[in-house]
Amino acid sequence: MDDASRRDVESEVGRGLAGVRARIEAACARSGRSPAEVRLVGVAKLQPDEAIRAAVRHGLSDLGESYAQDLRSRVLALADLPGIRWHAVGTLQRNKAKIVAAHAQVFHALDRVDIARALSDRRPDDAPPLECYVEVNVGGERTKAGVGPDEVGDLVTALAGMPGLDVVGLMGMPPPASDPEQNRPHFRALRTVAEAAGLRGLSMGTTDDFDVAVEEGATVLRVGRAIFGARPARHG
Ligand SMILES: *Cc1c(COP(=O)(O)O)cnc(C)c1O
Repeated sequence: MDDASRRDVESEVGRGLAGVRARIEAACARSGRSPAEVRLVGVAKLQPDEAIRAAVRHGLSDLGESYAQDLRSRVLALADLPGIRWHAVGTLQRNKAKIVAAHAQVFHALDRVDIARALSDRRPDDAPPLECYVEVNVGGERTKAGVGPDEVGDLVTALAGMPGLDVVGLMGMPPPASDPEQNRPHFRALRTVAEAAGLRGLSMGTTDDFDVAVEEGATVLRVGRAIFGARPARHG
């Protein structure tokens, strides 16, 4: 990357991040919340390392990847950056659990006991517990990952006491919507289920709907495109 395009990336990502932060503050103001209650995870998926480094220079300290192998290569590529919290945000296959257990501080898509057990078994002894969000299929889509709202209690009970894991909240990703307002009832339902399960964390809200998610109580946002711009196609 030459100097001119490096400067372009720097200013685009800086603008994107500032815009997202302003929208979070506005949504917090509308709903009487403090921005300090809302953690912003920059979803790095398919973006060049240089864009991620620019976001970190602008103060972003939480980074996410969707696929386990991408997480591993990103953590290695950015190993020189101190103090990053790494989030695995996407559905995980059991044979990739070791990667997430080794490289992530937070896992957002826990929906099976066997995956939990694999993560628990593989979490390094010297690492703090992996913070986990149970993924809930809020939209009831048949093809979507996540447990049904009525299955959350049993799964949370099954996960309690697994060494190396700390279940901190619920995650939900509503079906694609043309208007973010359509996702408000899904976010509200997720909060109700979390409260019933005694969980405080709510990982909800992406580029399409994070303002509404903040208004409905999100504690963690998973935002990619609004920070980094459109995702490049996967290649290689
Ligand atoms: C890609 C992804 C995001 C971020 O999506 P954007 O639309 O880029 O904000 C959030 N959560 C998960 C699980 C994702 O895979």
